[in-house]
Amino acid sequence: MNLIKYFSMIALFLAAGVTYAQNETDKEERDPGHYNNNRFKQLYEEFSTPNVYRSASGAPGPEYYQQQADYVMSIRLDDTNTRLYGEETITYTNNSPDDLEYLWVQLDQNKRARDSKTPLIEPSGAFPAEMASSFVGKYMGDGFDGGFKLDYVKDNKGRALPYTINRTMMRVEMPKNLKSGEKFSFSIKWWYNIPDHTIDRARSGYEKFEDGNNGYVIAQFFPRMAVYSDVEGWQNSQFWGRDEFALPFGNYNVSITVPSDHILDATGELINRKEVFSKTMMKRYAQAKKSYSVPVVIVTQAEAEAASKGFATNTKTWKFRAENVRDFGFASSRRYIWDMMAVKIGNRDVMAVSVYPPEGNPLWGEWSTIVVASTLKSYSRMTFNYPYHKAISVHAKNQGMEYPMICWNYGRPDKEGNYSERTKYGMFGVIIHEVGHNFFPMIVNSDERQWTWMDEGINTFVQYVAEQDFGQAYPEAIAPNKKYPSRRGPAKTIVDYMSGNQDRMAPIMTKGLNTYNFGANAYSKPAVGLNILRETIMGRDLFDYAFKTYSRRWMFKHPNPEDFFRTMEDASAIDLDWFWRAWFFTTDYSDIGVQEVKKFYVTSKMNAEVRQMMESRGMKESDLPPLVYLVEEGSDDYEESMETATLNDVVTLQQYIMDNLTPAERAKLKNPKFFYEVTFEKPGGVPMPIIAEYTYSDGSTKRVTYPVQIWRKNDASVGMVIASEMEITKIVVDPDEETADIDTSNNTWPKRKKLGEFNKFKEKIKG
Ligand SMILES: [Zn+2]
Repeated sequence: MNLIKYFSMIALFLAAGVTYAQNETDKEERDPGHYNNNRFKQLYEEFSTPNVYRSASGAPGPEYYQQQADYVMSIRLDDTNTRLYGEETITYTNNSPDDLEYLWVQLDQNKRARDSKTPLIEPSGAFPAEMASSFVGKYMGDGFDGGFKLDYVKDNKGRALPYTINRTMMRVEMPKNLKSGEKFSFSIKWWYNIPDHTIDRARSGYEKFEDGNNGYVIAQFFPRMAVYSDVEGWQNSQFWGRDEFALPFGNYNVSITVPSDHILDATGELINRKEVFSKTMMKRYAQAKKSYSVPVVIVTQAEAEAASKGFATNTKTWKFRAENVRDFGFASSRRYIWDMMAVKIGNRDVMAVSVYPPEGNPLWGEWSTIVVASTLKSYSRMTFNYPYHKAISVHAKNQGMEYPMICWNYGRPDKEGNYSERTKYGMFGVIIHEVGHNFFPMIVNSDERQWTWMDEGINTFVQYVAEQDFGQAYPEAIAPNKKYPSRRGPAKTIVDYMSGNQDRMAPIMTKGLNTYNFGANAYSKPAVGLNILRETIMGRDLFDYAFKTYSRRWMFKHPNPEDFFRTMEDASAIDLDWFWRAWFFTTDYSDIGVQEVKKFYVTSKMNAEVRQMMESRGMKESDLPPLVYLVEEGSDDYEESMETATLNDVVTLQQYIMDNLTPAERAKLKNPKFFYEVTFEKPGGVPMPIIAEYTYSDGSTKRVTYPVQIWRKNDASVGMVIASEMEITKIVVDPDEETADIDTSNNTWPKRKKLGEFNKFKEKIKG
């Protein structure tokens, strides 16, 4: 055949196919040009890296550095007046290449000072009713007298250092600049009134039990160094109460003096155990270290209740040493029960520990430590082996808050010891979540003040994995034959939020303080995003390897969002710029459906359209290569006889096959009988793979996943021709609801009959 003729023929068909484009260029007024608005555009403008500190691979760069802050502290708890006193010496090491002119120290307690501006940034309204307690606090009192009272700030020669307090941040001036590689030591003496944490769910404070005793969960309790980094310089963004913390790593030596009848646990290794433990406690502790499946009680409920009747006036000092931690917290009360057990992590033993008042039982004695141990195993599998020697879960009313090695958790039965499923799962979930925070952000130390999702979102994702593990390992803890009912993680759990009011939505890449719907935005949506990557887009093997790579690269370091985004691509060879852009940088939602399905018949009979084109170009049928014609059901060229015809009846096709294929090749040919053009639509802005399930006339199904790149040139709709040996009776998009599709009414073909039509149909049958 004449090749030129052949190509002109192809051109003819192409021209017919692009009449729309033809009209566009004929227009008098052309549309203006535009920037690259493609949803698959590379993320170069949004990323601030790579540089010598942070590599393009997502790993720390060759000149990556981080500062160190070491603390020696002496703390005294005044249980009578609920006050905390402290003296601390900070040794700050400047590992940055910069000379520092001053240091910034965080004074988080000042958020509760009388002159705090935090209450003034919350617009308020008059409610029809208000709790009396909160009414008194809001309108009748002169406010809690919180905030640090500083006795001195001085250098290691005892000379007073000039300092300036700007609300929750304190600038300390040094006698001379702190050069790169140098250390500077200085001391601060302080005290403050401890707040009642049950009043406004403060992250730290005391709870007064009915018997008059206090349970203290103490954190953000000392002036803490701010982070100085390649990304922010000094991270001295104010603590308004919402965004959490940015803290450098360091070593801690802390002595805590409390009433002698208190039970206390804290971040770090207890280094004077023999001085503070009774002989009985030492014996039980030795047992606990060898118990891998059941917790051993160190202080029993009866002992806690007996201690609660007294009030020691003498004191005990508990001494802790912690290495490579970014913070320090402790819990103390005479009303605490204490239990622990060992858990194997790699080839090391870690202690899983719980501290709780009798108010937590029976739930806490039964489950807390078991949940801690299970959590450490799951997180270690997903990231790296838990490197600290213990993890403590402390029960504090309505609290859910994390610190290195220690966290506060809610979940309290009623006075008779009864609890609902909701209370139980709330307690499991919060313990898994807060213990999980040891990994993110206590070890993979992201900047919480800036990026809530990097700790809460990533942690909530692993929490989901850990919850499912826990449900499998302890079926007796959950309803029989059920999976753990995770509240966050599966794709469909975010649909309500993502289909909501766009005016009340912010991209995940927004500072926490400025987002709406904090839980959905900073916890749920990033967690669901990672789960979609793992289950649907990357697959578990590629995802888990990349996720582990990120965790290990940034273990005991300070990662930034880019470091995460880059590593996930770097370790998997999956281009995810489109996903980060859509899911993290916009508020777009996912919605894909089946728009239309056309049925075609194959024939060798030339149709009117081709005949017309051929004649207009003065061509004869013999000028054409063998053509196979696709005729849409119901179109002008459609004839009923086509329905029973087979490919054997298509003369042009058979002629081509006989002329060009060997008998062996012919024998291998498939023989499809049904031809469809399926049009998928995408009303949502988030690109997603099209997961299509085709059901055939014999009831069998087949799933095809069209990679997300199918949307790269048409963001609204794409067609797909399907040749099938059996008739297709049904098409469902995203049958397992794994893409967070917000509108499933367009996911099925043929469209489900609306109830109204169904009722009419019923009437008809009756009639
Ligand atoms: Zn959290």
